[in-house]
Amino acid sequence: PTSANGYDPINDAPFYRGQAIPFSFLTNSLCEIEQCKGKRSTQQIKDIISNVFRTTLLLCPEELPDMFYFFCIKLGPDYESNETGIGLELLSNSVAKACGKSVKQIREQYKIDGDYGIVVEKGKGAQKSLGNFFKKQETTKAKPLTFRKVYESFQKISKCSGNNSQSEKETIILKLLQEATNEEAKYIVRWLQKNLKTGAAEKTYLAALARSIAYTPPNTKPMIVNARIGMQDYQFYQKCDYLEHGINEAICEFPNHGEVIKVLLQVGDDMAKLKQQCHIRIGIPVKPMLAKPTKGIREVLDRFEQQKFTCEYKYDGFRGQIHFDRSNLDKQVMIYSRNLESMTHQYPDVVEFIKRTASIELDTFILDSELVAFDTINNRILPFQVLTQRSRKNVTEEDLKTKICVCAFDLLYLNGKSLLKENFTTRRSLMHYHFKEKEHSLIFAKYKDAEAVESIEEFLQESIKDSCEGLMVKTLESNATYEPSKRSLNWLKLKKDYLDSGFGDSLDLVVVGADFGKGKRAGLYGSFLMACFDDNLEMLQTITMMASGITDDQMYLFHEMLQKTEISRPPTNLKYKDKSVDVWFQPRYVWEVKCADLSLSPVYCASLGSIESNRGIALRFPRFIRERPDKNIEDATSSNQILEYFKSQPQHLNKEAEEEEFE
Ligand code: ATP
Repeated sequence: PTSANGYDPINDAPFYRGQAIPFSFLTNSLCEIEQCKGKRSTQQIKDIISNVFRTTLLLCPEELPDMFYFFCIKLGPDYESNETGIGLELLSNSVAKACGKSVKQIREQYKIDGDYGIVVEKGKGAQKSLGNFFKKQETTKAKPLTFRKVYESFQKISKCSGNNSQSEKETIILKLLQEATNEEAKYIVRWLQKNLKTGAAEKTYLAALARSIAYTPPNTKPMIVNARIGMQDYQFYQKCDYLEHGINEAICEFPNHGEVIKVLLQVGDDMAKLKQQCHIRIGIPVKPMLAKPTKGIREVLDRFEQQKFTCEYKYDGFRGQIHFDRSNLDKQVMIYSRNLESMTHQYPDVVEFIKRTASIELDTFILDSELVAFDTINNRILPFQVLTQRSRKNVTEEDLKTKICVCAFDLLYLNGKSLLKENFTTRRSLMHYHFKEKEHSLIFAKYKDAEAVESIEEFLQESIKDSCEGLMVKTLESNATYEPSKRSLNWLKLKKDYLDSGFGDSLDLVVVGADFGKGKRAGLYGSFLMACFDDNLEMLQTITMMASGITDDQMYLFHEMLQKTEISRPPTNLKYKDKSVDVWFQPRYVWEVKCADLSLSPVYCASLGSIESNRGIALRFPRFIRERPDKNIEDATSSNQILEYFKSQPQHLNKEAEEEEFE
């Protein structure tokens, strides 16, 4: 049953307490989700998933953490890299073997279906000469595949390394496909393709988790749970919101979903207890606080009227959250990115520096900083691009020749104590007191506690001369706590570009398609279809075609990189209208883009329906700035932000876009 209200998590479950969860329990719900269409689909999806979680909570609670990760297509928290590392080649080879067909046949079929999941489902079913891989299943009555077996196989795949890893991975996949029904095989392959086609992302799964706990608090007796009291109640939905908020807060400070769920299994709906156990700690990155863009100094002064604030240099590098634990000899220093991924191995020089210089009275700390490349001869910060040249995994001697300077701007944790609730004046003074600047290796963000327009303007110009992007303006005393993961009004960014272009921020957009190039771009892509991210609908929405600002070298590079992600149909999570392109890509890469202004367009879909029912928002004169490897597609500029930017433009800009193809 799709309705959460009429679902009995015990009697409707296809397995008993203590029995391993059949994988079909999950795939049946995934099938149901695929049928959800129309306006209420988000609600229905939440209901279906929360029912799966409720049943698991009651009958097999120890499986809930991994089940949550399964739906999010993860094998653990982001800061532990648990990638399966399966490319399309390995996948097509495995599917071909599983279906007893040639790779060529499978690729042809993929061009028609656009999804290896469908290809394997059809191919496995249609297979006549049950040769190689399905013989065993035919002759002996196969046991149903369990969720545990599938998830453990994925974990095994992620651990394969060395020369034989590809064939080891293939063997694991084939074994799984051998035991799976056609429908199960479809979802195994989709999972490995990193797209279950549920149209849902982490936010929906968290809401479903909150809802399942509201229905079925873990430590409640099932009898009480089954009496469906007040399910439709306003109060019930209030409780869901309260739990969702509480779980989200815990995850911002402690982004380990598996551990948070384990604690929830103990504390049920008691959010105070959840927060007591899931809070900031060394070795687990806090979701970083983010800033709101502003268009000028006047806006800053208007927003911060009557408040003490400070202006800091906005350095142009990679965010580095540095964790230090003197007692942990293996992992004394860890560095995390804006995306919560570990960058520790990419910066062994920074790790060494911190180890060597951490003052003796410091046992533990978390320092928030920007890592920049530094030219020690000319004593200046180098452009961001220099930093991106450093290898991500195997850092070479050559890489280490580029000096990295830590520009420290906040202190979140000190000697066993969280500083998140302290105001910025306190956090900053503690940072200045406990750390020492060291030329070219560690500096404190340069700041000025200015209040007059003229002095801010002067400081902004100075920051740009010193190779920074502009200023970060932060509240000092009231409303000045550190707000993990929030794009807060208490941090404003004032970039030089805003002042030049008359239009707010640059945008971070996802590359979803391309048209082939002509002339000197023949054989490569010529222009790219870009999309923003609607975080309520969890969909990408097309916003512009872009061809400017990309050098010839970059064109070659992007061709090589994007070719590997080509798909034969538009991505399933993309909202597009008439705009079609020569090739579509799996949404994976985020690029920073600037534009002259925003206009309404009948062709593009950003924030479609918010201003006019038939027209979305589009960019005019978009220009490529740089790649953003530190951002996931969910971190791309949201359609709400686009709408805000659009509304804040002077009225005359909001005219209809003449059907120009903006390049
Ligand atoms: P966002 O992080 O806001 O989504 P973004 O990644 O594109 O956007 P910016 O808009 O450029 O980043 O601004 C915020 C980033 O600026 C921070 O994430 C941090 O990496 C960097 N930064 C540089 N200097 C500072 C500073 N003094 N205080 C805070 N952040 C700073």
